[in-house]
Amino acid sequence: MEIVFATNNQNKIKEVQALIPSHIKLLSLKDINCNEDIPETQNTIEGNAIQKAEYIKAHYGYDCFADDTGLEVSELNGAPGVYSARYAGKQRSAEDNMQKLLQELKNKQNRNARFKTVIALHINNKIETFTGLCEGEITKSKSGNNGFGYDPIFQPKDYKQTFAEMDLKLKNTIGHRGKSVKQLVQFLSQ
Ligand code: IMP
Repeated sequence: MEIVFATNNQNKIKEVQALIPSHIKLLSLKDINCNEDIPETQNTIEGNAIQKAEYIKAHYGYDCFADDTGLEVSELNGAPGVYSARYAGKQRSAEDNMQKLLQELKNKQNRNARFKTVIALHINNKIETFTGLCEGEITKSKSGNNGFGYDPIFQPKDYKQTFAEMDLKLKNTIGHRGKSVKQLVQFLSQ
């Protein structure tokens, strides 16, 4: 079985590839000659995931899945949430986003946060969604070089390391994307 993962983010492809069984062949956007930016104009994480999957099906004809992820911070009423990628502006810089978040939480006691991933699967002309959550805290400074995005400042609950200090296997086991991918794989294996 072949299925398109609608992302250009090589880090995400690496994470998901590690969880997909070998009988499911993952195609990237590059593999289907899609070099455009897929629209993400909805105001919910779920809405963006569905929009991306529907776009690929409509314009390229492939069954596919798309993910959208946001970091929801309690003290900030769930922000940056669906706007996580451009929290510090449209340059979409991970470094700027982390610095802004650290600044917003300066001197705050409550540093609780969670990652939320929604995967939207477009298959047999229907949409299915799978949600993965990972609870944790925003650290006071950056730590670690692995992963991407907000990983250096996110410490999952019950762990002493940030995501950026973990290897991919551990991040995938306890992380938001891994949890949603496991549900996807279970659905595709039925
Ligand atoms: P998107 O799902 O690619 O739109 O990601 C939204 C924002 O969350 C971007 O700033 C990503 O870098 C960040 N992000 C997505 N997944 C992760 C993750 O697993 N760890 C850290 N940051 C992430």
